[in-house]
Amino acid sequence: MKNTKMRTLAEPFRIKMVEPVRITTEEYRREALEKCGYNPFLLHSEDVFIDLLTDSGTGAMSDRQWAGMMMGDESYAGAKSWQHLEAVVKGLTGMPHILPTHQGRAAERILYGILGGKGKVFLSNTHFDTTRANIEFTGATAIDVMPEHATDPEIDLPFKGNIDTTKLQELILQHGSTNIAAIIMTVTNNSSGGQPVSMRNVKDVRNICDQHKIMLVIDGCRIAENSYFVKHREAGYEHTSYEDIAKQMLRLADAFVMSAKKDGLVNMGGLLTLKDDALSQQCTNLLIISEGFATYGGLSGRDMEAMAIGLKEVFDPDYLHYRIRSTAYLGEHLKAKGIPVVWPIGGHAVYIDAKKLYHHIPVEEYPGQALVCDLYTQGGIRCVEVGSVMFGKYDANKKLLPAKNELVRLAIPRRVYTQSHIDYVIDVFDDILEMREQKRGFKISYEPPFLRHFTAQFEKLT
Ligand SMILES: *Cc1c(COP(=O)(O)O)cnc(C)c1O
Repeated sequence: MKNTKMRTLAEPFRIKMVEPVRITTEEYRREALEKCGYNPFLLHSEDVFIDLLTDSGTGAMSDRQWAGMMMGDESYAGAKSWQHLEAVVKGLTGMPHILPTHQGRAAERILYGILGGKGKVFLSNTHFDTTRANIEFTGATAIDVMPEHATDPEIDLPFKGNIDTTKLQELILQHGSTNIAAIIMTVTNNSSGGQPVSMRNVKDVRNICDQHKIMLVIDGCRIAENSYFVKHREAGYEHTSYEDIAKQMLRLADAFVMSAKKDGLVNMGGLLTLKDDALSQQCTNLLIISEGFATYGGLSGRDMEAMAIGLKEVFDPDYLHYRIRSTAYLGEHLKAKGIPVVWPIGGHAVYIDAKKLYHHIPVEEYPGQALVCDLYTQGGIRCVEVGSVMFGKYDANKKLLPAKNELVRLAIPRRVYTQSHIDYVIDVFDDILEMREQKRGFKISYEPPFLRHFTAQFEKLT
């Protein structure tokens, strides 16, 4: 059954345990949304029918991972489960120093806390929101180095997650290579649409790093999904296994940070791996102060056991094909309906161009937030704005400096929803299309100084 044009993409697993989900009424959802200040992050999950808020830690573990949980070794130091995880991650990254953390941002805080500080500059294809926040929190600057076309939602290119190497070199000269703390390659590129990064691009960045003696970090939360795209889109990798593609890419880096809540196929966990002995020593000290001893770093033995198994399962060809194709299925069907989606479809999510869909709502009134709220009221679907609520800044006069795009992300949890759930989501968009001209925007009534999208409150404009 190799035919990829098949309409039905049968999930390569069967269901052994079920979790009921509740369908509420539109009136109920309207009230729930008002109560949480129109920020779906603050909804109770029981009030959500299909939760596409994030693919982070929301996946389903396999029977083998659950069996591994029962075998978890909870010894404080040197647990068997730690040794299992360490061996798997050493094999994957080829790096000698493996530090477990409770999630990705803990790895980021430790590494960027040491590399960052006032006057330091980080360059990346795109800094993910927690990456940027952890860098800026140290007083350092984070600059995204995307090619012009990367922010065009319509251009159909195979590796829209790539960094712009010409701009990268200009920025290195402009800031001085000694002030560049690191170059961070986010793979796949989460914030710019879950778009993949080519092996060629990472190799080019490696050469630039060597030339200027700059450290290369791979933020590889979705390294397996990226490998799928490399195998199918980049010449020369047709016969390389997904796992070997990931191994080759990671061997180009000096450090690797990962939220295992994505391609680790677990609900909690993270990793920081390093080549350099002295830096690893510094990171280990911080890890012990803030996360836990070096052989568990904030994780239970069972968590590490499940992660070790997940990091192997994620490279299974049937799983990866299902994963990438099922995300594309949603995107292709929405596009066919006339919904403006970021093209091509990335690995873990479908991004909708809300500025285009809700063209009558000005950017200052957050069209993405409006769409997020409408998807919840219409269909009980929860998703997130990736636009000026997440990335907007203010100038000296408190005027909004909008993000480049106003996107809405429908992130797909791993191995959780079936094709019929996704068909339902596609149907809800019919209602959105029908009523879009009546939709109105929002203003922010409360916001915290960092990562405001998590806790901001909104007022509906009339
Ligand atoms: C999720 C994510 C992080 C942060 O990881 P957490 O586990 O949520 O702390 C960092 N970078 C990228 C690219 C991510 O997708």
